Amino acid sequence: MKAELANPLVPFCYLCGTARFLMYENFAPPQLLPSGHLLTGGVNYTCMQCGQFSGHNIPAGWRPPE
Ligand SMILES: [Zn+2]
Repeated sequence: MKAELANPLVPFCYLCGTARFLMYENFAPPQLLPSGHLLTGGVNYTCMQCGQFSGHNIPAGWRPPE
């Protein structure tokens, strides 16, 4: 199940203060529906440094680093 937040956020570990150690899963890019409505994308991620897990909506244009 995907968490739905009002404000899309760039994935970030607030415990470590960096996104450097994040491992991304289930990346779902934003989708433009035939109606013209933009379906917000989302991603789940785990911080490999501290083990923190999170998942939420992402800003349009964000994608996991290669
Ligand atoms: Zn962390």
